[in-house]
Amino acid sequence: MSAGDPSRLDRIVAEARLSAQRRERGYREQALKIYPWICGRCAREFTRANVRELTVHHRDHDHDNNPPDGSNWELLCVYCHDNEHQRRLEASAGAGSPSAGRVSTYAPFADLKERMAKKRPPK
Ligand SMILES: [Zn+2]
Ligand SMILES: [Zn+2]
Repeated sequence: MSAGDPSRLDRIVAEARLSAQRRERGYREQALKIYPWICGRCAREFTRANVRELTVHHRDHDHDNNPPDGSNWELLCVYCHDNEHQRRLEASAGAGSPSAGRVSTYAPFADLKERMAKKRPPK
């Protein structure tokens, strides 16, 4: 009768969410199948016991881009994955650190400070 049935809308939203979750699980399983269980950054190896700490990163940061050959996926441990997104955030926020380049430490700025204070005497 009435066009605006709220419970029906709820169901549609719930279904969309569910299918998104299912798809997510799908590409994770797929990625774990085609790639070795090793973090692409720190080369930490994973086993069944801790594979939950290994996550699927999207190289282009587009979670809807899931080619079946896995070319947009990269397996990263939770720490490196976090780091990767942090850097991306900082970059897009225009933090404007010139040529931070590929710093693989957790705290690039602390590292930078140390490098700038190079004048320490060698003990
Ligand atoms: Zn890692
Ligand atoms: Zn990611």
